[in-house]
This record gives sequence, C-alpha cells and structure tokens, in this order.
Amino acid sequence: MDLTLRFRAYPDEDTASEAWRHIDIHRQIRNHAVRDYYRAPRNDRPSAYDQHRKLTEWKQRWSIFAGVSAHAAQQTVSQIQKDQKTLKEHRKNGRKTGRLKWQGAGEFRSVAYQSEGFNVNHTTGHDFGTLTLSKIGDVPIRAHRDLPETENVKRAILKKERTGAWAVCFVVEGEQPEKPDPDEIDPADCIGVDLGIQSYIHTSDDLSVECLDLSDEYDQYAREQRSLDRKQRGSANWEEQRRKVAKAKRRIRWKVLDFQHKLSTWLVKEYDVVAVEDLDVKPMLETSQSAKNKQDAAWSRFLDLLEYKGDLYGTHVVRVDARGTTKECNECGVETSKPLWVREHSCPACGHTEDRDLNAAKNILDRGLNSLHVGPGRSESMPVETVLPAFARHSGRVDAKHVVEAGSPAT
Ligand SMILES: [Zn+2]
Repeated sequence: MDLTLRFRAYPDEDTASEAWRHIDIHRQIRNHAVRDYYRAPRNDRPSAYDQHRKLTEWKQRWSIFAGVSAHAAQQTVSQIQKDQKTLKEHRKNGRKTGRLKWQGAGEFRSVAYQSEGFNVNHTTGHDFGTLTLSKIGDVPIRAHRDLPETENVKRAILKKERTGAWAVCFVVEGEQPEKPDPDEIDPADCIGVDLGIQSYIHTSDDLSVECLDLSDEYDQYAREQRSLDRKQRGSANWEEQRRKVAKAKRRIRWKVLDFQHKLSTWLVKEYDVVAVEDLDVKPMLETSQSAKNKQDAAWSRFLDLLEYKGDLYGTHVVRVDARGTTKECNECGVETSKPLWVREHSCPACGHTEDRDLNAAKNILDRGLNSLHVGPGRSESMPVETVLPAFARHSGRVDAKHVVEAGSPAT
C-alpha cells in the first residue's frame, strides 16, 4: 500500500518565493490542461499520454511553462486523470459531482515530483534533512521520524498550507507502521476520549470538541420534506422534490463524515495511544437524553474510523469498558452516582472537583493504559500542552498555551 509521510518544511525566503512562483505556474498548466480536456468531445477525451505530448507544444508557445521542472509539469497534467477517476468513484457512490474547476491564484497550493527531479538528503544536521527539488532548490525538513531514502519515494510533494506553513509529503510503498512498544510509550503521548454529553468529545487533556452545528442543514431537510408532503404523490413535481429531500439528507451525512475524518486523523497523528469508551457498554440512561445528537454523530462509525486510522498511522486505539467512568473519582477511585444534569464531579470522599467529562476522560485513559500495560497511568501528571486542530477548543479550565493548526486535509 501507499503511505504518505508528512514532514514540516522550512524553506528560506528565496526558496519559498521561488516554490510559490512554481506552484502558480503549475496552476496555470493545470488550468490549461483542464480546459483542453473538456474541449475534447466527451467520447474522445485526451489521455495523460496525449496531454504530455501537448505539454511539449504548450511549452514552446508559452515559455513560462518551460520554467518549471518538466517532470513536475507532467505530474500536474497526470493529476487531472487521477482527479477524474476520483470524481467517477464519487459518482458511482451516488454523489453528485461537478467538473474539475478552473483554479484562481492561491487556490492551487502544491507541487509534486514523481520518481525524478528530487533528492532526499539525510545528513543536513541534527533532526533535519533536506529535500532538493529541481529548479526550486533546497528545502530543509524536520525529521521527527526517519526520512525515507530517495529511491523509495514514489512522489515528493511540497505544499504550502493555508496557515502559511510549508510541508513536505513523501508517498512511499510500505507496510503499515508498527505501533509503539507499550514499554516505550510516554503517558504524555496518550489520550483518553469521552463521548461528550454537551460536546462531541471531551479528552483527558481537557480539550472539548463541539458537536457539529447542523441546524441549518436540518432546517433545510425539514423544509424539503414538508414541501414533499404537500405534493401529489407520484407526480413529476413530487419526484423532483423527493430528490431534493434525498440531497438534503446526503448533505448532513457528508458533513458528519468529513468532521469524523478530520477528528480521527488528528487524534491518531497526535498521540501514541487513544483510549475511547466503547459505546456498546455505555449505560443507555446516559445516552438517551441526547439520543438525536449521538445518532447523527454516529459514534460507532467514528470508533471504526479511529481504529482503521490507528492501524494506518501506527497508533494504539483501545476501546475500554466505560461503565462507571463518570461515577468513579479519578483521584481516589470512590464511586459516586450523579444524574446527567450534574456537570461537575465533586468527590465526597477526597474532595476532588473537576468537570464531569474531564474526570470521565481521565478514567478512560487510565483504563486504556492499564489494558496496554503502560505505566504509571495517572493522567493528572501529564502536561496539558498540545497542538489543537482548528475545530477544537479548550474548556475554560486550562490556559490557552495552545497553537491552532488549521486546514488539515480529511485523510
Ligand atoms: Zn475522590
């Protein structure tokens, strides 16, 4: 399988501006090739091979196109066919797709080199390496994990994030990464995740991620449904309206799925162990009140996604029996029952007081670490500093020493 290894990149000012200039030329090449593609009759669209040949002509006519790496330019052209394939897959899954779009300045943010035109240098210095891209220059990359050998890299991609930060992705052929040995796991790299009641999740680092606001989408859905009810069943209007209802429903599903992808990817990338409550054993009493939210959020699908991505990124995802995690005091272990509307855990035995969901998340983490035999497992000793994704926020209790990372892709 193909694995994508992502690294932070630190091009100097000149290289960064040169890279950005190249990316913009690639954008123009792409726009050109997209137009060429759609100009051809539907049953006679150009192949990647056809367009590579045309690229040679285009370069003669527009000298700016010749300014970038020829291999990278071919990559940009080939990408159109890959994008078409993706669109086709979406259509097969019943998703409505448009055409490939013309991209304005700044919308196209990366340049890819396939097989040639780049070199990975490991010897730059402590924890750093360099990616040399033909016609762009040397880009230092931080090697927070081993850099791949040049000959093992199928594709090297230089990307400017919307935050302005640069990143390098290497696509390599590889096995799924091994999960870290429990003996070597630092509890600080582990997190417990409670299925929130007011929030979507609440973590043992006291991070709460809000539920998606789907009220507009639900309003739309209800409107379309009402309109459908007013129409003559089986009529052409009814049929058309039925499609609108289905579309509104689909929009809700996609939004939730996209959210779950981003959240699960973030968790497995950021931590070595993610302990989650297994919904099946969660007392019904606790879920009934917010049943609608829970259903929409499809917690069990989220757990499946999380486990799948844990395998992909080499992260332990541990499901724990969540029975009693809200009752149990994370400080002393004494159980106190509290109704759903009591938001704070206040222990009669030891006096420990904290947010109900935070206390539960810490218990989930402890249970997860116990089952993996990671010690010592008392979560309160862990530092709270972490990198937050754009969609997350901290609850009031913790200082906002945190960096916000935005615009991570959904995979
Ligand atoms: Zn206590």
